[in-house]
Amino acid sequence: MPKTMSRKKTCAVCGKPSPQPAVRNAERHGSPDLDTRPPADVRFSIDTQVQKCPSCGYCFYDLAKGAPGAAETVNSETYRKQLGSASFPKLADSFLCWSLIEEQAGNFAGAGWACVYAAWVCDDAADFKRLYGNVSGTKMGERDEAAAAKLCRQKAVLLLKRARDEGQGFGAQAGAEEALMADLLRRIARFDSAAKMVKCGLEAKPIRVVETVLEYEQVLAGKGDIDVHTVAEAIKWKGELEGPATEAEKGQDATWQSE
Ligand SMILES: [Zn+2]
Repeated sequence: MPKTMSRKKTCAVCGKPSPQPAVRNAERHGSPDLDTRPPADVRFSIDTQVQKCPSCGYCFYDLAKGAPGAAETVNSETYRKQLGSASFPKLADSFLCWSLIEEQAGNFAGAGWACVYAAWVCDDAADFKRLYGNVSGTKMGERDEAAAAKLCRQKAVLLLKRARDEGQGFGAQAGAEEALMADLLRRIARFDSAAKMVKCGLEAKPIRVVETVLEYEQVLAGKGDIDVHTVAEAIKWKGELEGPATEAEKGQDATWQSE
């Protein structure tokens, strides 16, 4: 398990200091999911990816940094409602609040990615509950994390579509944006839209691993599959179609996520 650390940060909105989780050293083992969600070791440090000010509720990747209009957004009704929402795990709430800050600042790519992170938090909460039951009392038990994850993905799709319209890139290489969009759409059962996105992605002539992910998304969408799948599974599927993978493809990590 990665090591926990904290660092004092001064909030760019209210000026108050607070300890915030700092980046831990986490080694990557295993395969990322098709939407680039990292494997377990890195996944468990997702709480270090967002900071929340305990005084004013400002949520951002770095509290010491301000975003355009941040103070106004933090005090808006929409933001206060999201911050106190019981429909999402608290960490997912922080990512969704960060998303609102980015959206108001006009950074739709960043806003979309923050919703993708929120969906991952909800996925993990749903997985945890399925494996271990409701260990945290009734309130958490009443929350439907699978429904919360769906809402996060719906939001991510809208924001990332807007990012594309505005020419804001959110994938580091050809076909990567379409691969992420196809996965988000498939996971919310919009299979026709996912298939269209796959077609766009393949037309962009992506590198082999992205091409494989896109083709695998098409197969999954065709089967009406809304479950999580890994890049390793996609590579294995392709290998079974075309013979064994080359050394370069074995365990290849999809690193198309842009910062
Ligand atoms: Zn603050």
